[in-house]
Amino acid sequence: MSVESSAHTAAPRRVVIENCAIATVDARDTEYTSGHLVVAGNRIESLGSGPAPAGLEHVARRIDGTGHLVTPGLVNTHHHFYQWITRGLAQDRNLFDWLVTLYPLWAGIDDEMCYAAAQGSAAALLRSGCTTSTDHAYVFPKGGGDILGAEIRALAELGMRFQPTRGSMDLGESHGGLPPDTCVEDTDAALAATAEAIDRWHDPSFDSMLRVTAAPCSPFSVTRELLRGAAELARAKGVRLHTHGAETVEEEAFCREKFGMGPTDYLESVGWLGEDVWMAHCVHLNDSDITKFAATGTGVAHCPSSNARVAAGIARVPDLLAAGVPVGLGVDGAASNESGELGAELRNALLIARLRGGPAALTVRQSLRLGTMGGAKVLGREHEIGSLEPGKLADLAMWRLDGVSHAGLADPVAALVLGAAAPLTLLLVNGREVVEQGALSRVDEEEIARNVTRAVTRLHGG
Ligand code: ZN
Repeated sequence: MSVESSAHTAAPRRVVIENCAIATVDARDTEYTSGHLVVAGNRIESLGSGPAPAGLEHVARRIDGTGHLVTPGLVNTHHHFYQWITRGLAQDRNLFDWLVTLYPLWAGIDDEMCYAAAQGSAAALLRSGCTTSTDHAYVFPKGGGDILGAEIRALAELGMRFQPTRGSMDLGESHGGLPPDTCVEDTDAALAATAEAIDRWHDPSFDSMLRVTAAPCSPFSVTRELLRGAAELARAKGVRLHTHGAETVEEEAFCREKFGMGPTDYLESVGWLGEDVWMAHCVHLNDSDITKFAATGTGVAHCPSSNARVAAGIARVPDLLAAGVPVGLGVDGAASNESGELGAELRNALLIARLRGGPAALTVRQSLRLGTMGGAKVLGREHEIGSLEPGKLADLAMWRLDGVSHAGLADPVAALVLGAAAPLTLLLVNGREVVEQGALSRVDEEEIARNVTRAVTRLHGG
């Protein structure tokens, strides 16, 4: 092979988008009313006002973005994919009653069902502009097969950037926990499986499509030993830690009765505050808790729809942001947020914050930041994703705002956050097309729907 042809082969494929509004969500919130963005390979090469530079080579696609807003791809910081096949149940329960109703059903999941559930969950996320997602899998029934492996396969096929967690529960009902004993694992076995998952899959590279996190489930379903052991393991292996914290008043009462302190103080006592930790919900934080989160850099996954669905309360997001706590958005498990769409959480986060804190509690741009850079920071990937800047990974969403729902709506960011769910013309993950004209590019949506229906039937013994 000649030097010339070798250079030609190595040249990155370019995608050029022009004539679009751009919200970069960089440190200065730079926006362009009509600009361009050039993707080369899996990176953003350049962006700015007006048309793309002349003379670009290897342009595989040139897209006219007239009437569109381009934003960073959204980042989902909390989910339970397996719950996609238990949606619509326990409709009118608070968290503990909802969990107690669903645990016995979850004890019957296996890898095949979780593959379908991950497909359904990721489809909803991608179709709503999400390019990176975590997943908190914490139910691993005996004989359930390779549940995490099945999820990872599903996400790779769909083309999504993934940060799965190896979750766990080891505090069953007979030892004072909430879940039935059939849903929990042995402490040492859970830690060994977590270590194995990290060794098998975790890729720390800059453009990693797969990073693994250690994630014991919650103060009321895991032992102190598992929390301590998972923290030691994660720090030894250089991966992040995730759990639920301060979600409901019932959890607060559980912690005070069992440990003599609130959930944040308890988690701190077992080594669970730090910049390598993020927690879901954090609805019931007092001022001292918020100070501790800020001082340690502990992140928060804010899940407004789920918090409303189980009536957990309204998280103090404006106070967390004012204190400097990293906050991202999460859809949470699909059994407490049946839509599973992250795009909708931009709007819900803003509306719910204002119900608590008034009309200035959260702006449309703060909401977009929560769903992009906020999430990237929470997952420890703020240098790679979360904003549109040269050199960062090409994860971006191109929203159509000149259709019947949005035409004439002042301010494209307001149109995206306050308006109807915007149609997604294009979604790129790592520079590759994964959604085009609102539909998944790489997997047949009807086949996913059939897989999900079949998994639900099997779960119910059909
Ligand atoms: Zn959750």
